[in-house]
Amino acid sequence: HESTMQSPDSILQSVFGFGSFRPGQGPIIDHLMRGENLLAVMPTGAGKSLCYQVPALLLDGLTVVVSPLVALMDNQVAGLRANGVDVACIHSGQGREVNVSEWRRVAAGQVKLLYLSPERLMTPRMMSAMKAVGVSMFVVDEAHCVSKWGPAFRPEYAQLSDLKTHFPDARIAAFTATADAATRDDIADALFAGRGRVIVHGFDRPNLSLTVTPKIDRKKQLLAFMDGVRGQAGIVYCLSRKNTEEYAAHLRAAGHKALPYHAGLDAGLRFDTQERFMAEEGVVIVATIAFGMGIDKPDIRFVFHLNLPGSMEAYYQEIGRAGRDGAPALTHMLYGLDDVRMRRQFISEENSEPAHQIREMKRLDALLTYCEASTCRRQVMLSYFGEDSPACKNCDICEDPPEMIDATEPLRFILDT
Ligand code: ADP
Ligand code: MG
Ligand code: ZN
Repeated sequence: HESTMQSPDSILQSVFGFGSFRPGQGPIIDHLMRGENLLAVMPTGAGKSLCYQVPALLLDGLTVVVSPLVALMDNQVAGLRANGVDVACIHSGQGREVNVSEWRRVAAGQVKLLYLSPERLMTPRMMSAMKAVGVSMFVVDEAHCVSKWGPAFRPEYAQLSDLKTHFPDARIAAFTATADAATRDDIADALFAGRGRVIVHGFDRPNLSLTVTPKIDRKKQLLAFMDGVRGQAGIVYCLSRKNTEEYAAHLRAAGHKALPYHAGLDAGLRFDTQERFMAEEGVVIVATIAFGMGIDKPDIRFVFHLNLPGSMEAYYQEIGRAGRDGAPALTHMLYGLDDVRMRRQFISEENSEPAHQIREMKRLDALLTYCEASTCRRQVMLSYFGEDSPACKNCDICEDPPEMIDATEPLRFILDT
């Protein structure tokens, strides 16, 4: 038995082998841990499953997941078992004996997660059996099936609206990739009588401009950038503690109100630095990734990266701190091959499991694809998170497309002569 304190982050790493949460996952997990009902709308591929699997493993008691398709269920169950999570699954696609022995494991408290088809769940027998076992969370996956107005309405899903009366103490978490405003209201009404949150998480942040430039002379490039944002609040991210102090000094010498921040500074100083950033105008923090978590300043006007972050997820999270007020904000990353080498080395040092190494390398590769993009950067980023989008006109590539060689030119020349 596990004796150490588990947190969402530790489960993410130890069970799923991921280094960081995707955009949107963290807040959803927090709401569920606090016991709130919610409906989350996130694009396909965004990682909705993890949003309930992590709390399911942390909460006392059973989580019941309702999913409309046997194939989807089997897929999830296989994935969890591959990660060493013991789950049960009951549906009509498997024999009665299997279903009975799966239920025994649930009743004995051996599993934290039970996957069920909705018509199995809503029988009177199952309801009373569930009450005896105690359920801490119900998850409704593909929740758009609840809505009578939607194209995928399932009559069995309509019965799920009785859950809230049978289990007033269990939280209800619903997930879907497709629900317009009316459908969202419909689902939230049916499942938890509107007493819960509706979270819509598209990934695009159109007010953030995206720029990546090859690293040539970090100091010169930073100072040139900073000339354009003089007097505005922003964050400059670097990798080492030493760099935060060095670059903050460079910026101060150039007349910027720059302060270093890293985990090695004393707690009082870190607190003061944060306070100044929040309260004073135009403070620039030169920081390691230790800075940012829990900082909720709406008018951060730029995020500058002196080094390559470790993954697309990390990068998205870091630049996402800028422009929360919706007004334009700049993001700029310097990209150098030395950083790529270093990141690869970090990944192999920090992950003992080969499977985890491979996954982290892929996440880094996604960021490299972004850095080396010759088409709209936002499209590259959003497609990684499962979202389709038109070219943005707010990235360096859209603003100044790389020159394409016009193959018709030489041909015309030949034909003309
Ligand atoms: P959805 O249900 O939103 O379509 P899934 O839950 O099936 O998406 O997840 C899509 C993929 O994203 C899966 O391969 C999953 O392992 C991966 N994924 C989810 N969360 C993370 C994360 N924090 N880091 C890396 N990969 C993730
Ligand atoms: Mg899904
Ligand atoms: Zn673009």
